[in-house]
Amino acid sequence: RAKRGRLGHAFYHQGEEEAVARRLTLEEALRRAFAADELELHYQPRVEMPAGRIRSLEALVRWRHPERGLVPPGEFITAAEEGGLIGELDRWVREAACRQLARWQGEGIAVPVAVNVSAVELRNEGLAESIGEALRRHGVAGRLLEVEITESAAMEDPERSVTVLGAIKAEGVAVSIDDFGTGYSSLSYLKRLPADHLKIDRSFVAGLGGGGADEDIVRAIIAVAGSLGLEVIAEGVETEAQERFLLEAGCRLAQGYRYGRPVPAAEMARLLRAARGA
Ligand code: C2E
Ligand code: CA
Ligand code: CA
Ligand code: CA
Repeated sequence: RAKRGRLGHAFYHQGEEEAVARRLTLEEALRRAFAADELELHYQPRVEMPAGRIRSLEALVRWRHPERGLVPPGEFITAAEEGGLIGELDRWVREAACRQLARWQGEGIAVPVAVNVSAVELRNEGLAESIGEALRRHGVAGRLLEVEITESAAMEDPERSVTVLGAIKAEGVAVSIDDFGTGYSSLSYLKRLPADHLKIDRSFVAGLGGGGADEDIVRAIIAVAGSLGLEVIAEGVETEAQERFLLEAGCRLAQGYRYGRPVPAAEMARLLRAARGA
């Protein structure tokens, strides 16, 4: 028995070491990815339903890995957070988004672009200043940049979020509360958060159109947003039934595969030009 126990113990340790080694490799690879310029932004439209007119975009990071191809953020954001690289990643994203916006501004096709800010970066004292500095350096108007903060990140330290988001808004940058409904917001803090949009999490949108509990939740979220003066964006809209429900419930803005998947900048530029009839 004792022998088996020891063996089990040894295996446990071995597994743990392997997990740590894998994570280290991912972290190292990610560090190299910055240097080798392997990260890129894709853009997904946020549209007005039902016609699908593009109102703004969300920038979503991708890693073009030399062997593994296009790696989605779900596979490296956690490693970046754990390895202390998320600040650098979010900064790279802001920089890339501002550079792209400056280009689109010059071409007369710029629409606001929202970037995701991680919970870790929300604790960075210099966040608002860093955002403002990037905007000024690229000559981009504050109204063209937006930030998305998840509800759970915003509620980690609500007092602080009020201050940080206020400073971001003072740069002219709009704020979205992302993945709403999955965190535990106190309505009194939500009321004080200087935000502009509330994004209904995809998990609730997925259940729309079939008459289930998600429909009541989504109606409640839309009502709360309305009373707080926040504009609602539904994420992950894929079907006509979901669109119909949302419109009837009073939500006009959506993001999802029904209107467009995230695409590289060049492809988004074509869509923006087509929308302008240029
Ligand atoms: P998110 O902020 O909730 O982004 C929306 C995700 O939903 C994106 O996944 C998008 O591709 C996906 N999506 C959009 N429409 C649909 C739809 O109709 N159906 C389905 N099934 N999915 C849809 P993606 O690009 O894989 O990003 C995953 C998450 O990674 C993001 O979730 C965000 O939390 C994080 N992330 C992405 N880019 C960044 C970044 O630059 N910085 C940070 N900190 N996090 C990022
Ligand atoms: Ca987001
Ligand atoms: Ca989201
Ligand atoms: Ca989400």
